[in-house]
Formats: sequence, C-alpha cells, structure tokens
Amino acid sequence: MKDEQTPYENLLGTHALVFTGQVDAESVRTAAERTKAAGYGLLEFSLHDIDGFDYAQSRQDLADLGLEVVGSRGLAADADVSSEDLDVVARGVDLLKRSVDSVAGLGGHMLCGALYSAFRKFPHQLSAKGRANAVSALRDLAPYAAERGIKLGLEVCNRYETNVVNTAHEAVALADDIGSDNVMIHLDSYHMNIEEDDFYRPIKTAGDRLGYVHIGENHRGYLGAGHIDFPAMFHALADIDYRGPITFESFSTAVVAEPLSSDLAIWRNLWNDCDDLAAHSRRFIADGLAAARRISKN
Ligand code: MN
Repeated sequence: MKDEQTPYENLLGTHALVFTGQVDAESVRTAAERTKAAGYGLLEFSLHDIDGFDYAQSRQDLADLGLEVVGSRGLAADADVSSEDLDVVARGVDLLKRSVDSVAGLGGHMLCGALYSAFRKFPHQLSAKGRANAVSALRDLAPYAAERGIKLGLEVCNRYETNVVNTAHEAVALADDIGSDNVMIHLDSYHMNIEEDDFYRPIKTAGDRLGYVHIGENHRGYLGAGHIDFPAMFHALADIDYRGPITFESFSTAVVAEPLSSDLAIWRNLWNDCDDLAAHSRRFIADGLAAARRISKN
C-alpha cells in the first residue's frame, strides 16, 4: 500500500543508446557505470545485435551495479509475426524467442518494443489475417516468456514504424486478444505525440495494463526543450498510480548504432554530453512525477 509519508517512486531507467551503440562487454560495463552515476536503476538495451553481447560478463556487471535490465526491439521485414506469409511469421516467432532468451541472459525481466510487427514504414494497411497471425504468435510467446520470468511490453509506435498498433486503444485491444497476464502495454511520449489525442487519455486507457513507459521529447533530445505536455503525462501516471518502470529514451547522431539509428531516422545531432543529458533527464522525470503525485488524489 502507498505510504502517505513516503510517496512511491518509480524505477527510472535510461536507454543504452544515450551512452553507446555497442554491446560488447566493455561498452555495456561503461554504459552501466554511467547509468548508475546519473542516478538510474535500470538500463535498457536495444536487441539489434543479439549475438554481440557477452552475456555472462555483462549479466555479472549489471548485477554488481544493481541495475534492472530491459531489452527492446522491433521485428524485421523477413521475420514479422504480422505477415500473411507463415514462413515469415515463423522467423518472427524465432526472433522473439531468441530476444526473450537475450533478456533472460542479461538477467532482465522485460522485453518490450514493436514485438507484434516489423519495425518499418508499411506500404499497406494491416490485414485481418496478419493481425490474427500476430495475436497467435504472441499468445504462444507469452508462456515461453513467463517461464523465464519475462514480461512482454507492447510498445505503441507511430504510423511510420508499424501498421499494427498506433494508439493505446489499439494496444488494449491487442493485449485483450492475446489474453496473457504477462503481456503489458508500453507507452512512449514520442509516439503519443504523433498519434494520440493528448498525453493524458492514453495512459488512462491503458490503466492497470500499463507495464512500461518511455519518456522522450518530440525531437528525442533534452526533455523540456521540446513541446511534449509532460505535466499532463505525469498527472495521468500519478492518477492511475502507475508503479512500473519509466525509461528515458533519446537519440542523437552523437551515438550511432546501425541498423537501429537508420531505422529510427536519427539524422540530427541533438546532444554531445551524454552524462549531462542523462542526469538532467533523471531529474526532470523524478521532479515532474513527484510534483504530480503530491497533488494526485491517488
Ligand atoms: Mn520507445
């Protein structure tokens, strides 16, 4: 239960791309140390290079620093569970299972992102058959993940990155159709800015299904330097009494990881000082949440 004297504090995290685009043991250790130094308790890795990790070493280093670990990804054009081609779907399922294994190998408990489709601009609408394939694939993946202590976060992404789930409302419908307790909704302010009506209602729509949150500016740079309505977002998180992790996501050409950087269309240099960016963002999120919680009825 919530202690009135000590307001609940969410576990705050940062994306590894704030520090490095590499996943070798030395890069992971350095990113983890800088994550810790900036005051975060969680580090999220993009799984675009699953085979590049030194799992034993990095798992130990992350555990030594007491950091929670999250893995995120989208699927690929030739490995897409929303395809009508069952061979493509099967490769998508295999990629998802290997991604669950990757998170487990790093000692983490959450796999999130566009787990339901390729991460790309689609030239057509999602078909009913494609959606049914995605539901079926994730229904099969959910127990595989649960057995390994992993939750799945369906990230609501914008229309240029998927044609399956663009709004919180659609994500709730997909999660309901999958119907597994460890399948959660993952909202991201960057995508919400493009697709949602505002920054309050999607969080209310997700409600207790919300399991992971990305905080990013509309240009993916310094928080507060753009036009995202963070007070509305923090009020919504306070009002639903969201207690899950919240992770800062920011990308700049200062840190490059291919093919992810190109997939995300990171063409601009929005910052160079990673450590300043990370520390500033943690303060911004913590202060905004604390302020909203102080006046929330929850
Ligand atoms: Mn995101």
